[in-house]
Amino acid sequence: MPTRRRPIRGEDLGGDRVELEVSVARKLYTCPGCGGQIPIGAEHVFVRRTPVDGSSRYHQHWHTDCARPIAREMDLAGRRRN
Ligand SMILES: [Zn+2]
Repeated sequence: MPTRRRPIRGEDLGGDRVELEVSVARKLYTCPGCGGQIPIGAEHVFVRRTPVDGSSRYHQHWHTDCARPIAREMDLAGRRRN
């Protein structure tokens, strides 16, 4: 998982470019993983995704625990840390 000082960048198994970084919620977010809310002030994971199919880059806010499968998939796909 990313830390405050160390984001994770890599690809998922489908070839999308994915970046995970630790963030602090400045407003209320809905986690795409579980549908639950991320309260203001909560540390969570900011996920930026660049689809391999050429569609637009987008980002989402995930609970840290909900984002773990994304990091695992990036591990499987061959993650680079930077
Ligand atoms: Zn969640």
